[in-house]
Amino acid sequence: MQTDYKLHFAYGFYSYIYKIYGLFMDHLKHFKNIFQDRVTVSPAELCCYSADGSQVKGKPDFVIFPKTTDEVSQILAYANSHLIPVTARGAGTGLAGGAVPVKGGIVLDMSQMNRLISIDINNIQVTVEAGIVADKLNEALKPYGFFFPPDPGSAATCTVGGQIANNASGMRCVKYGTTKNYVLDLEVVLADGSVIHTGTNCLKSSIGYDLSRLYVGSEGTLGIITKAVLKIAPLPKFRKLVMISFPSPENAGLSVSRVFAAGVTPSACEILDKTSVSILTKLDPDVIFPRDGDVVLFEADGSSKNAVDEAAELIASACEEISNSILITDDPVKMKEIWDARRLLGAAVSKLDPTKTRIYVGEDLGVPIQKLPAMIAKVYEITSEVGITPMIYGHVGDGTIHVGLFIDVLDENEWKKLDIAADKLHLAAIDLGGTISSEHGIGAARGAYMEKQCGSAFFVMKAVKNALDPNGILNPGKLGL
Ligand SMILES: Cc1cc2nc3c(=O)[nH]c(=O)nc-3n(C[C@H](O)[C@H](O)[C@H](O)COP(=O)(O)OP(=O)(O)OC[C@H]3O[C@@H](n4cnc5c(N)ncnc54)[C@H](O)[C@@H]3O)c2cc1C
Repeated sequence: MQTDYKLHFAYGFYSYIYKIYGLFMDHLKHFKNIFQDRVTVSPAELCCYSADGSQVKGKPDFVIFPKTTDEVSQILAYANSHLIPVTARGAGTGLAGGAVPVKGGIVLDMSQMNRLISIDINNIQVTVEAGIVADKLNEALKPYGFFFPPDPGSAATCTVGGQIANNASGMRCVKYGTTKNYVLDLEVVLADGSVIHTGTNCLKSSIGYDLSRLYVGSEGTLGIITKAVLKIAPLPKFRKLVMISFPSPENAGLSVSRVFAAGVTPSACEILDKTSVSILTKLDPDVIFPRDGDVVLFEADGSSKNAVDEAAELIASACEEISNSILITDDPVKMKEIWDARRLLGAAVSKLDPTKTRIYVGEDLGVPIQKLPAMIAKVYEITSEVGITPMIYGHVGDGTIHVGLFIDVLDENEWKKLDIAADKLHLAAIDLGGTISSEHGIGAARGAYMEKQCGSAFFVMKAVKNALDPNGILNPGKLGL
């Protein structure tokens, strides 16, 4: 009797696997017919699409490389009618698992949709395909004296589509605004394969719900962005760097509201605490960073030398009383060296301790700028309570605090400590009226905090998701939806 039961179970199990395998083969045949070698199920390649810059993991069943909006539309229509999850991927530099297919299915690699369709200087805008790399767009704009200001640290590799889907920002957003401030119109393929435009080519437009803003930050959960019309800005002619060292990280945080109160909007404002500075000086002992404290890099830019000089002086005098030392420079070589070092920080963290790895959790806090000293103090308090070394850096000019947490990944106890620290950091940011993600997004890493962060607005998000993706095929498992 028992043997019969086992046989029955074994038959049921194998017929189920056979059915699933049969379905998989049907889907593969369908995609191969249309995309030939632009679809892959090779285990090695699938492995490459199983992660992004975060610790989140999840393997796709298929990776497809579309070249046109029509192809994206065909894929979504098929996936929707067969209930196959679809996850868009730009360059996979995201730090919250956004592009990781945690429920399997299809990864749409958008990197072959990378054309710069038009540069329209007279209308201060460009039209691009979503897979264009951010720096490539800026290289093309430079000869015209213009740029696309949102400038994430990953600009050399990340795509404009990924930037829009994450509302990415960067060092210059304190003055120029984040990606959302530059999106005029998006071409989006909806879950059922239909194609919409979210805006117009006008610099402003008042036509009901702002659908472009809805798609900015939607992390591929409401549709696939295939094209974008983006506003651009003239390149500033003059820049000046003010590098200030402070006796404590709280003073460094305090400097931000002092500078704004002095009537200056810096074009960049980056904090590097003592640990961050020590990592950079270990990497390059000659780098020109003060060794005596926590550093804030302020930059002033503009079209007139006098205005930039005056802004730099105002920044320096606003901080003099609470600082250790101040260096002002407009030497392009020195400025490049300092900014290049700052950009390297994320990659240089292994210099701190080769036995420890930085894990991206609780790393992207944001608070109103006046609360920066309190948030910074909380980071040190929480991490010392838990017993984890922190590093603080980030775009403090707009309230962003990146926290680097390092653990020995082979030690289970360290993982537990990390979870506790990340949880406390997220809750502390919310308590201070801040945000659990200033720019890296929610992805699969921070979904559990969405209700706490957004309150009943989270149920509005769920309603929007259900209306636009009733079968839940678009990037399932993200945003806590
Ligand atoms: C070294 C380093 C530095 C970084 N610095 C910054 C920084 O300063 N500021 C900042 O904001 N971020 C930063 N990031 C995070 C990340 O690089 C940015 O969010 C970037 O914009 C993501 O672009 P991507 O093309 O790699 O997107 P991916 O990681 O591929 O995807 C990100 C999200 O967008 C979705 N997506 C991608 N393309 C599309 C599309 N066409 N349609 C719909 N959804 C899409 C994905 O599904 C996913 O949810 C950094 C990352 C690294 C590794």
